[in-house]
Amino acid sequence: MQNRISRRTLIQTGLMAGVALPGLGMICSSALAAGLPPLDPADPTAKALGFVTDTTKVDAAANPTHKPTQKCGVCAQFQGKPGDATGGCNIFVGKSVPQGGWCKVFAAKPGA
Ligand code: SF4
Repeated sequence: MQNRISRRTLIQTGLMAGVALPGLGMICSSALAAGLPPLDPADPTAKALGFVTDTTKVDAAANPTHKPTQKCGVCAQFQGKPGDATGGCNIFVGKSVPQGGWCKVFAAKPGA
């Protein structure tokens, strides 16, 4: 039995791996974010930071600088991709937040 691998096979395999691996990484990071449990607004830290799942429900009297355009999906701390319904948050590690949520730590993503 001949067990030789041709140079062509090695090059083709290497090229396919080079194309497939970055895509696999993106799929894995999305899958990991999708698997995070949602942040509970009753969580003590979430409460302290005024987290709400819907930015239109923010108490304007308690948060006079809040604007309805401020939401997790355009926050610098949001780890999801544009258009993701939910994503991780750098402030609430291990939890997901909805793209339409908000908290007092909101800071607009550069360019958003
Ligand atoms: S830090 Fe940003 S992404 Fe995280 S909960 Fe607050 S507003 Fe949403």
